[in-house]
Amino acid sequence: MCLNIEFDLRVDGEAQADPFLDGYELEQMFASTRQSIGGGLRRKFAGIVCAEHAVAPRFKISGVYDNSLEEMDIQYHVDTCCQGFLMRVMRILNQRA
Ligand SMILES: [Zn+2]
Repeated sequence: MCLNIEFDLRVDGEAQADPFLDGYELEQMFASTRQSIGGGLRRKFAGIVCAEHAVAPRFKISGVYDNSLEEMDIQYHVDTCCQGFLMRVMRILNQRA
């Protein structure tokens, strides 16, 4: 069972004259974000499927790097077959490591 993880990482706003991160560094940051979040989810959810429907959870990770604030905002979107499994997935997601 392969976990479905989709990433949507993008940059918002105009770059400052002397940006904190240049384009290459932003790409590096996005790549390491994909790796660390994707890897963490795959570890936590290895072999975890809904007990009732045998379906794995689906994740979408949205990340927006705001050029003017020089901040990265990450959001997790979780999609499951049913509410009971969503509760279980959220419990696992909120567990430390
Ligand atoms: Zn289910």
